[in-house]
Parts: sequence; C-alpha cells; structure tokens
Amino acid sequence: MSIIQPPSVTTVPVSFEVYPPRSDASYAALYETIDRLAAVDPAFISVTYGAGGSGGGRSLEVLTHILRETRVEPLAHLTCIGSSYAEATALIREFLDAGIRSFLALRGDPPVGAGEDAAALGDLESAAQLVQLIDRVQAETSPYTEEPIPGVPGAARVERRPSVDIAVAAFPNGHPRSRYPAEHIDALLAKQAAGATLAITQLFFHADDYLAFVARARSAGVEIPILPGIMPITSPSRLRRVIELTGEQVPGTLAVDLDVEPTADGRREIGVRYAADLCRAVLAGGAPGIHLYAFNNHDTVLATLREAGIIPPTEETS
Ligand code: FAD
Repeated sequence: MSIIQPPSVTTVPVSFEVYPPRSDASYAALYETIDRLAAVDPAFISVTYGAGGSGGGRSLEVLTHILRETRVEPLAHLTCIGSSYAEATALIREFLDAGIRSFLALRGDPPVGAGEDAAALGDLESAAQLVQLIDRVQAETSPYTEEPIPGVPGAARVERRPSVDIAVAAFPNGHPRSRYPAEHIDALLAKQAAGATLAITQLFFHADDYLAFVARARSAGVEIPILPGIMPITSPSRLRRVIELTGEQVPGTLAVDLDVEPTADGRREIGVRYAADLCRAVLAGGAPGIHLYAFNNHDTVLATLREAGIIPPTEETS
C-alpha cells in the first residue's frame, strides 16, 4: 500500500496532522474534528507523539480511534530521542499490536536545556536508525504468508510479508541544528536508504522554498515523494510561536497583514488565503499532494482546501 492514495472527494491527495488532547475533556472535540476531516477522504491522518508533552498513550488512543471509527489510514509519529533500544522496540511492538501500519519516524528534540550528548540522545541517534528499527520489529512480528504469483498459473507461490509504510521528516529550509548547509539533504538520503517511503516537510512560507528543496533533493538522489506540510496561520501569536518552534524566517507579508488586521474573522481570512495560495503554487510545481497541520481544528484547514479549489464548496462540513 502506498501512503499517498488519491481520495475520492478530490483528485489531489490530502492528509492532516493532529495532536493528542492534553486533557480528558478535549477528546470529544478532537473526535468531532477527526470526523470532519475524515469526510474529505484524506489519504491519512497523522497523530503527533511526545510533542508539547503529549505522551504515547494518548497518541495511541487517538490512532486507535481513527482506525476503528473512520475509513482513514492512521499514521503514527514516533520519536526515539532519550529511549533505549529496548524501550523503542517495545513501543513499536505496542503500536504494531494495536494495528498501526503507517509511521512517521522521527528523532525528536532533546528536552529543553539538555545537550546533544549520548545520554540525552538515547540508543538511537537519528530518525534513519528508527526507520530501520520499525522495519526490523515489523519483520520479526509478521510471519511470511504464501500467495499465488500474479500472472503465473499453477501452484507456484511467492512468500510475502505484510509491510509497513514509514514516512520521515524533511526540512526545506534546513534543520535549525544542522552543522553544515546540506546536512538535511544528507539526513533525508540516509532515511531513504534506511527504508523510508515518504517524506513530509516542515512547514514553510514560500512555494519556492519547497520547490527548490525538492529539486536539490532529487539531484542528490532522493526519489521518495516529498509531501509539502502547510499550516494556515490565523493570528500573530500563532505565527510567533511557530517561528520559535521551527526556526523558520518570519514571512514578511503574512506577518504584516496579520498584525494590521483588526478583526479575528479578517485574520482568519488572511491566513486561509495565504495557505491556499501556497497549496496552489506547490501543486502547480509538481507536489504529490498537500499535508495540512490542522492544529486540532477542522474549520481552518477545510476552508484552506476549499479556497485552493482542492475540495468543492459542497464538501463544506463545518
Ligand atoms: P534527524 O533527521 O535524525 O535529524 C534532523 C537534523 O538534526 C539533521 O539533519 C541534523 O542536521 C541534525 N542533527 C542530527 N543529529 C545531530 C547531532 N547529533 N547534533 C547536531 N545536529 C544533529 N517532534 C516530536 O517530538 N513529535 C512529533 O510528533 C513531531 N512531528 C513532526 C512532524 C514533522 C512533519 C516534522 C517536520 C517534524 C516533527 N517533529 C516532531 C519535530 C522533529 O522531531 C524535530 O525537528 C527533530 O529535531 C528532528 O527530527 P528528525 O526526525 O528529522 O531527525
């Protein structure tokens, strides 16, 4: 199975990222959001892990909900920072046992104040090593089955093992902690060599950042699809927070427009229009789909897809 599957509502594959609720009271609201997102037949909905203090238990709970209650593929983010080899192996087993077959393998960030030393990193030093470990644990836990060989009559059989899809992160403007300019491309090549089948990018604010990065990655030998990660940003405070977390450059036009707009409705319109323009531009440049950071709010990402002409107005679900 390929992670990127054309959904039926739109010919452009779309996908969404949500994060696990931080309190028990927020589950109902998140599940309502997931229902609304599922209504546009996304290729997958991904659930963050560990980010912002969300633990693996809550993440798996949300993933299991998506698996049981929708027809959408749940994609589990996993981070390995600070974990021993045995802990990471046990975590992967737990997710596989729950029926999860798609992963986003991440190194993760060291806790604030911790260095990049061996103790802070744990046994696995990079996302590429986690890709290999997921693949290995999956192989150990899934027996081979025998299937007929397509197009070959008779009793000939081929041995197959159910596989997992493993996505990885990519950084169009480099990683904030890169030690040399092309390190993020080298890291992506290593993740591909380890078995990753899809890359999802960090958010970016200019289509050229993504398109130039894809061109550089392709000429370096990256062949896997690189899905652009886009976040509609509808307030100056959200923009500041995102810049702080990602280390991206402040997008001048968006920052000024959000700052001078006096109403919340007006700011929402600006953020949606900006993100929709970005979606159109990257698709025109050959992007294989659109991955939207939903921030657990269906309204803004669905409005972005409508504004970009990716889902029809009749698919309005809010
Ligand atoms: P890697 O590719 O292994 O490393 C990334 C970069 O870090 C390398 O390119 C290199 O420049 C640098 N680097 C690697 N090792 C070292 C070292 N020893 N010293 C200095 N620099 C080094 N985080 C979460 O906690 N939970 C999530 O759910 C989550 N989801 C994400 C989803 C997406 C799409 C993206 C883009 C990021 C997400 N993150 C999440 C953030 C991610 O964990 C951080 O960006 C992390 O710093 C890098 O992870 P990686 O998997 O790309 O690591």
